[in-house]
Formats: sequence, structure tokens, C-alpha cells
Amino acid sequence: MKTTTCYMCACRCGIKVYLKDDKVKYIEGNRDHPVNKGVICGKGAAGIMQHTSPARLSKPLLRVGERGAGEFKEIEWEEALTIATSWLKEVRATDPKKLAFFTGRDQSQGLTGWWASQFGTPNYAAHGGFCSVNMAAAGLYTYGGSFWEFGEPDWKHTKYFLLFGVAEDHASNPIKTGIGKLKGRGAKFVSINPVKTGYSAIADEWVGIRPGTDGLLVGALIHVLLEHQKIDGDYLTRYTNAPWLIIENPGGPDHGLVLRNDAGTPQVWDEAAGHPKVAMTFGSTPSLMGRFLLADGRKTATAFTLIAERFLSQEYAPETVAERCGVSAATIRRIAAELADVAFNQTIELDVPWTDYLGRQYAKTLGRPIAMHAMRGISAHSNGFQTCRAIHILQIMLGTIDVPGGSRYKPPFPKATPPHVKPAGKPGQVAPNKSLPGPPLGFVTGPEDLLVDGEGTPQRIDKAYSWDAPLAAHGLMHMVINNAAKGDPYTIDVLFMYMANMGWNSAMNVPDTIAALTAKKPDGSYVIPKIIYSDAYASETVHYADLILPDTTYLERWDCISMLDRPISEADGPADSIRQPVVEPDRDVRPFQTVLLDLGHRLGLPAMTNPDGDARYPGGYADYIVNHERAPGLGPLAGFRGKDGTAAGRGAVNPNQLQAYIDNGCHWYHELPEHMRYYRHVNWDYLDWATFFGFMGRPEPIIHQLYSETLQKFRLAAEGHGKVPAPAQHRQRIATYFDPIPFWYAPFEEAMVSESEFPMHAITQRPMAMYHSWGSQNTWLRQIFGRNWLYIHKKRAAALGIVDGDWVTVTSHHGTIKAQAKLMDGQNEDTVWTWNAIGKRSGTWALDKDAPESKKGFLLNHLISDLLPEREGGYRYSNSDPVTGQAAWYDLRVRVEKCADQSDESAPQFGALPAVGVAAE
Ligand code: SF4
Repeated sequence: MKTTTCYMCACRCGIKVYLKDDKVKYIEGNRDHPVNKGVICGKGAAGIMQHTSPARLSKPLLRVGERGAGEFKEIEWEEALTIATSWLKEVRATDPKKLAFFTGRDQSQGLTGWWASQFGTPNYAAHGGFCSVNMAAAGLYTYGGSFWEFGEPDWKHTKYFLLFGVAEDHASNPIKTGIGKLKGRGAKFVSINPVKTGYSAIADEWVGIRPGTDGLLVGALIHVLLEHQKIDGDYLTRYTNAPWLIIENPGGPDHGLVLRNDAGTPQVWDEAAGHPKVAMTFGSTPSLMGRFLLADGRKTATAFTLIAERFLSQEYAPETVAERCGVSAATIRRIAAELADVAFNQTIELDVPWTDYLGRQYAKTLGRPIAMHAMRGISAHSNGFQTCRAIHILQIMLGTIDVPGGSRYKPPFPKATPPHVKPAGKPGQVAPNKSLPGPPLGFVTGPEDLLVDGEGTPQRIDKAYSWDAPLAAHGLMHMVINNAAKGDPYTIDVLFMYMANMGWNSAMNVPDTIAALTAKKPDGSYVIPKIIYSDAYASETVHYADLILPDTTYLERWDCISMLDRPISEADGPADSIRQPVVEPDRDVRPFQTVLLDLGHRLGLPAMTNPDGDARYPGGYADYIVNHERAPGLGPLAGFRGKDGTAAGRGAVNPNQLQAYIDNGCHWYHELPEHMRYYRHVNWDYLDWATFFGFMGRPEPIIHQLYSETLQKFRLAAEGHGKVPAPAQHRQRIATYFDPIPFWYAPFEEAMVSESEFPMHAITQRPMAMYHSWGSQNTWLRQIFGRNWLYIHKKRAAALGIVDGDWVTVTSHHGTIKAQAKLMDGQNEDTVWTWNAIGKRSGTWALDKDAPESKKGFLLNHLISDLLPEREGGYRYSNSDPVTGQAAWYDLRVRVEKCADQSDESAPQFGALPAVGVAAE
């Protein structure tokens, strides 16, 4: 038996892998592991079939026919790496940004992002822009944390749990076990989701909301709480920017900015003194509400005054929003009353003294036991950023962030709001044979941080950090291929992808994406000249690449689940883990991370090459995991550091670190003392400790930004103010959506298409038994979901003359598909939905060419346009959130009709691809 970390979804549970004759025989959960404590799900147990999948690639491949024809020849690794090096070397020597390096659900982003920076290209991101950057960015810009991997409900103490838009695949075992704990204690669990499956099906209350209206619902909850003055004034005054003074000078260059003193420190109105004072100081008495005239004649209002005015307006009254949300006003008012009751009548007091950042000592730790959690259902809308911010405002108003029973941070969070990392890639920062001066992804705090030139032209191929998507903290993976094919903003020379099925289900607008991958110039060469792809499996994207670098399975390699990326921390303390090779590969494949380091050395990238020209990490990824230091004493793994392995967090390199992890079940966990487990954004002992661990540069309080000055700076730029004013064509959009106070607006597609022509919403969910496109090639999991259906509410189906099993056409403004209908009750009546990423292209993934996944399965992606319809001036923005660039694939509007063609086959069918890199049928 060997321990390692599961990779059948993103939860990263600890597993025990049993072997016989060096073959994997059985996988079970590791009871000693902090994430899952022995629990394993169906996906995790079926890892054995992923590991032995017939779809595994087995040798490097070089394309010899046309793209898409599936004609490749097998080559040796040396030849493959020589080719890749020559392609990449040429790009680096001329214009490094002509390399676009994009990865999928990559768990080594600490390495891949660093590699891109070393190479010198700003064109790097993983799949976050397609998945959930709205959720991540909204959290990090508001309270220095986020849902999903960066935070969790206080399962032990929560009495009321509100879950928004979470499908079962995300946060799989941790949420399942957490909900089990809630139910064991009789806590109330409310799920807000258009579809009643998975978690929603076992919730105490399911609210079948209309997609894209969650922001309205949350605004209405805030409205009722404000109406009844059910807010935590102490929490708001002490730990948030609610009392900060905002300058009111409409049209002026300082309008909406925070009033600051000469040192740049925010000011509050001191009630006792009757004049402004520095915020966050001991002994002041800040006013939470009010408008104040300064001695110099300037007008100000507290941030909370502006927030209260926004949400107390009739626009957010439950009676106003009810019909649009599909949730009755009575239900909204009742839920708000329940929140108020739990927050203020059922408080928790832990007998744990703690000290805040001003040295104020508290004899007990007070908790308001309401926790919230949200994911892609909120995120994948063009209004997702502001909606997610509204959820955080609701939590903060109730005083529930990182308190007993509330939504808790997981180290290394909290971080500054936003984190102090700016994206690199400005003009002048990208130069031949030069590394970037910083990471390609980061957090802008104003227009001056954008990656644009003097005319406002985007510097990244995906237009991240441009006026199109200023706060694109995860990049826009969904725009790369089509932008590159159009040369908008420029063409590229090499597209390098890793485990990202960007030619199929990680693409919006699949037919156009395939056309882009195969587009040629008049001279017959491809518009995207060179495509390198690394994956373990023969996915749909393999056929469109020129050079294939076959990866191992997750049981055949070293990995680290790192503090530099997304560790496995618990709310009670930091944790990280490793994967070890449980078995050796039986094919001619290499772990991608080791290949990347090898390529880095062949390219002479400074951090991967010693001064004498030798490889810095000749032992590959395992060598890097142990010996790489991002800063003195800080490396990919936080555990067992120091020469003797006794240091935690910061310490010298330990040559035996990997063995120490193996001896400990492949994980490390550092439990925080009780007085450092809550209020960590303002907990002095925690902030001090987190600075030592390298989680922050200096111990400073993380003040929740209910009012976002960063967004207001963009608005001012849209009025022509500041050093970097917005170009004229973007001004209206920036002025509208960069509101410093969350607000709701109709999702773009809904606002642009005719409601009578496209009366229904269409969304996807992932089933509990599968994750992304990996699951639907797995022999065991395919038996649970071998194809997908289009689910329609029974009442709506009856009105449309559709019965169970009918084939229907689903038409959007962009295209039409044919799918088979299933009727159900538990869903919003205005919505159709399906399981995502089950539809496969015939001939891929080593499935039979008539496999149900391709013959009956389908993708909604074919209906989704990557661009919004043309606006005045001819410009087309991406179909994304205007703030972050998050792909808005849940905005989809459709009409559904019974299909004249009732033949047993979904459409479109793209034609069977020949098997590539796997044994043919
Ligand atoms: S929840 Fe995810 S990581 Fe955990 S066992 Fe299941 S598939 Fe593996």
C-alpha cells in the first residue's frame, strides 16, 4: 500500500493505493488525512480505471497530416523536446509574448505560472477564467478570501448554511461531510439553485431561483435586514471600510474616492470629536452612517451610507424582485428573518480570548453562526462579480466572516484586499530573451496597473487586464484560440496547452474554435503556426495539435499541492500534500512538470539553469519541489523544512522532505492554537504568525472593502480623470459596471436577445460522479452516466407538447443542437439544463465511435457565442463578465421545440475522428 493524493477532482483527498504485482488493485480514503478523513467518493475509487484507461497516450507524437485528420507519427522524447525547444527558443528570442501557455485544471500553477514568467510571456493562465474567477476575484477584492478552495463554512458551529449555485462536483467530499455534520446537529441548510439535484436535493429548503438573478435575491435580503436594522454595527465599524468617508463631488476627479490624510490613510468621522480622524485607530468613535461637511467645504458620506441607500431603494424590495427571481417576496422576507434570528439571537461565545490589530483584548470569541458558500452558478454569469460581491456584503453586514459558525478562511488566506501582487506584462516588460519582472497573473488596483499600451490596446492575447476585462485575475482561457486566429490583438507563434480540452468542452463556440485551430493563411500555413499539447489522454484537442507530449496519470508522478498555489489547508490551520509515484509508467510518457523544467533548462531560462549551464533541477519536479525557494526559506512545501525536518512554514531546504511527507501519509498539517483560529483578518497573533509563514509581506489588518475604491478609480477613468483615462469606446461600459457598490443588472445575453424568441435559460451542472471531461471516459463512471439528457420541467414540457424521451431542438441566437429530453419537477420552470462535458466527439478518448457519449451525448457549448453581439461602433466584447472577463456561459438563452427528426442521435455530429495515440478498435 502506498499513500498519495487523489486527482479525480479538485478536492485533493488523501488516498491509500493498494498494489499487487506492482499493479494498482484498490483505492480507499486515508483516514489520517485532513481533507477527507478516510471518506472516498465514487470518482476517487474509480481512479483505478483512470489510471488504466485505454485512452492513455503512450508516446510522443508529431503531426504528419492536416490538423484534425488524426495523422501523427510516434517520435522519441529527445526529438520531441528538441522540436519543442526550437519552436520556443525562436519565440523567446524574438517576441516572448508570441507564446500563449494555457493550462486546464492544473494543480501545479505555482510552477506553470513561474515558468511562464521565466520564459517572459504574459500570456499564461489556467482554467479559472472559464470557471470561477468571478467568485475568486469578488472575494479577494472584498474580504481577502474566497469560497471554494480558499475558505469553508465553520461546519462545527454553523447553525444556518446558505449555498448558492454549487453543483455536486465542486467541493465534493468536503461539502458532503460538512453537510453531514450540519444535519447531525440540526442546523438549517438552504440551497439556492435552479436545479434540485445533489446538495439541493438534500437541503432543508430548496429555492429554485431563475439563473442570473441571485444578485437581486441577495440585494433583497440586504434590503430587509437594513429595513429592520439587523446588522452587526460593531463588526462593520471595527473591521470594514463601512465607516470610511467617501468624497462626494460628482464630476470631479476625486468623486467617490476615500478621504485620506497626507500619509494616504483613510479617514472616518469621529462622533465624539466632530471631525475626521484616522481610520483604524484606538480610541476613535467612527460614525457608521451620515453625511459630513469638511472644514474645507468638501462633502463626504460614510461608505455604509451609500451602501444602505443603494439597497434600501425599492429596486431591491422583495416585492419588486420576486417575479424576476422566481422566488416569492414572503420567502425572501422569511429567509432574511431567519438570518437575523440566527445571527443576533443565537450567537455563539467560545471561551477563547484573542487580541485584535489595535491591541483590543476580547475575553471570548463571539460568533454569528451563519455560513455561506457559492460557486460556478453565481460565477459563470456576466453579472457574477457584482453578485458575488453582494453575497460577501451580506455576510459582512451580519458579522459572519471568520467568526465561530461563519465562513472561515483557509490559510494562506486571508490576504490583503486585493493581494499585493500586480500582473507583469506592460509594454517594455516583455522583451526578447528576458524574463518578466513579476508573475503574469495578479491584482490591479487601478487603471495604471492595466496591461495596455498608450492607445489602450491589450497586451495579452486573451485581453486580460485590458479595458475589456480589467480585473481578470485568472486570465480568459476561453478567448485565446479565437483571438489568436483573428490576430486580435495580435497573432501568436506557439500555442502551448496542458490538460486543457480547449478544442472541445473548454471552448465556448466549439465549431468556431475548431475552425480557428485549422484556419490557414493564403500561403497554406496555419494561422496559429505551432501547437504543443500535453495531456495524459486522447482528448478532442489532441487531434488539432502538432506536437503531443504525453503526460503520466496522477498515480505515476510526483506532485505538490503547494502553499504557492492552492494548498489543502483546513480552516484550523495550513496543510499541504504531495503525490508520489505509486507505480512506474508502463508507457513512454513523462510527467509534464518534469518536462517543463527540462524545457526550461534547454531554453536556458535563468531560474532553471545553473551559471555553468547545467540544469538547476536535474532530478525533475521532485528535485524542484524540495530545492526550489521562492524566497529565503520558503518553498513549494511548508512542512518538514529545515535541515533536520523540524521547521514549519519557513526553513532551510530539507533533502529528506519528500520522505518525511511519505512517512506522514503524503501530507502535512499545522493546527493553529485556538486564539488564532478566528477573526484572522484582524487577529494580531495570527497576522504576525502568517507573516513569518510568508502568507503576507507584513502584519497588517485586512479591512473588508464593502465599498471598492479600486472599482471607483476605473469609473473616474471612464469620466476622463486620472493618469490613464479610459479610451472613448470603453467609457460607457466601464462607467456602468465598475460600480463600487454591488448592484444587479440583467445578464448580457438575456438583455440582448428577444425574450419571446429565446424564453428559457439553459445551464449545465456537473454530476457528483464525474469531474470535467475526465470522468466520461472512465469505465466504471461511464456506467453511471454514459450520456446526458436535456432536463425540462414537466409543466413547461407539457405546454410545448414534449414528452419524456422526445428529441428536441435547442436554439440560441448562436446555433442549434438536437438533444433528448427528460422531464422532471425539481427545477426552475424557465430553465433547461444538462450534465456538462459528457458529450464527446466520436472517435476520441478511445471510446467506440458509436459510444453513447458521442451518439446521444451533447454539449451546450455549441450554442454559446464567445463574443457578444456587435455594439455601436462595431466592436464585439467577449461573452464575459465586464469586470473580470469570466466566461458567461450560464447566461445562455434558448428556445426548445419538439424535433421533427426523432432519430436516435444528437446533433451536431462532427464526424468520427480516427484514434490517435491509442490502440485502434
Ligand atoms: S472528492 Fe475528489 S479528491 Fe476526494 S476522493 Fe472524490 S474525486 Fe478524489
